Amino acid sequence: MMSFSLPEELQMLRDNLRRYVDTQMIPHEMETLVDGELKPEWREKFQNGMKQLGLWMMDTPEEFGGAGLTLLQKSIVWQELGRTIALPAREDGITGPVVRHILFQLEGEMREKYLMPTLRGEKRACFAQTEPDAGSDPGGMRTTAVRDGDHYVINGTKRFITGAGKSDFMQLMAATDRAKGSRGGISCFIVDMNTPGVKLTAQYQTMMGDKPWEIVLDNVRVPASHRVGEEGKGFGLAQKWLGAGRVKHGSRALGVAERALEMAVKYAHQRSTFGRPLADRQGIQWQLADIWMDLDKATMLVRRAAAMIEEGQEARVEAYHCKYFADEMAFAAVDRCMQVHGGIALTTDLPIERMWRQQRSYRITEGASEVMRTVIARHVMKAYA
Ligand SMILES: Cc1cc2nc3c(=O)[nH]c(=O)nc-3n(C[C@H](O)[C@H](O)[C@H](O)COP(=O)(O)OP(=O)(O)OC[C@H]3O[C@@H](n4cnc5c(N)ncnc54)[C@H](O)[C@@H]3O)c2cc1C
Repeated sequence: MMSFSLPEELQMLRDNLRRYVDTQMIPHEMETLVDGELKPEWREKFQNGMKQLGLWMMDTPEEFGGAGLTLLQKSIVWQELGRTIALPAREDGITGPVVRHILFQLEGEMREKYLMPTLRGEKRACFAQTEPDAGSDPGGMRTTAVRDGDHYVINGTKRFITGAGKSDFMQLMAATDRAKGSRGGISCFIVDMNTPGVKLTAQYQTMMGDKPWEIVLDNVRVPASHRVGEEGKGFGLAQKWLGAGRVKHGSRALGVAERALEMAVKYAHQRSTFGRPLADRQGIQWQLADIWMDLDKATMLVRRAAAMIEEGQEARVEAYHCKYFADEMAFAAVDRCMQVHGGIALTTDLPIERMWRQQRSYRITEGASEVMRTVIARHVMKAYA
């Protein structure tokens, strides 16, 4: 029989982590960051907490020494951690070093030189795809990698690269055939940040506190052995983890919306205007009901996408739907929570304004909402033609 409740083992994971977030993270969430990054003492504390909960290296397969959690298990973790703003908007690293799936494709010497030290926390990597003229449409990228004997010569500019300033190497996407673009023209390379010709040229300040970098590559020579996978198959490598990335977005959004709902309900009971608590007003009650109903729908979409990907089913549209709906839903939930709180929500005394800024950004990064809708529209027009 189809079940709509979580299996017992996942409920236990959720309850244990929720207890940790409620007692160890939320009470300190206004003091854990400096300059958009986790303070070292809090990073260590949270990493220890995750180790005790068995979540250390949860994203790393068991064959590489990780906990190898299933996507459903990870989805629960992302959801629960989404309830607090103790963590930076991107790449907090509290459940282990940030390792993109591209690195697991490396073999032999390259694996020893880049994957293993990254897993041990000795090296850091960034992912460089976006460019000033190619974000949502990376197939149009202008950075080129031209074969020259047993090397490639790379030229171009990458923009908004998270963590580039602290990285030892980048996982770089570059065009090996610009005419083919996303259909077989993009390749992936491992490039050391200290390679001659790699320059960090700007750092952006953002409303979330993230400070991504601009990187210029000027005649950067990279050994052909640093290409990951076959030439022209760079996007294929990325596609494998994109579905999971969208479930991550959706899952975190569930946590954000749930926290917004908790705060809004509590405040509606506390605050009185014109002689009655806000919670007595239908105008407020319906806003709370709307948040809950949308959260309920988003939860089903996230669980479905996670389960389908886990089972190895084709779930591209479901993953897009999950990211689109959940990220939009969570932003609307935080916005309503802000409205229920009134002026106090606009101050930095409460976490709401930061939740609002962070959640606003997720509607743009890693696939803007319009791009999600475009893909879904393509599916709908084909399926119902
Ligand atoms: C803080 C931060 C960190 C980031 N980290 C990284 C990173 O580590 N590595 C990396 O490679 N990139 C990173 N990015 C880049 C991010 O993924 C891009 O900003 C995102 O993909 C959108 O690209 P764009 O900004 O060029 O917007 P554009 O592609 O120019 O799109 C602009 C807007 O147009 C609309 N739009 C786009 N296409 C369509 C369409 N087909 N139909 C209708 N409307 C459309 C959308 O509303 C979109 O928001 C980061 C960005 C930020 C802000």
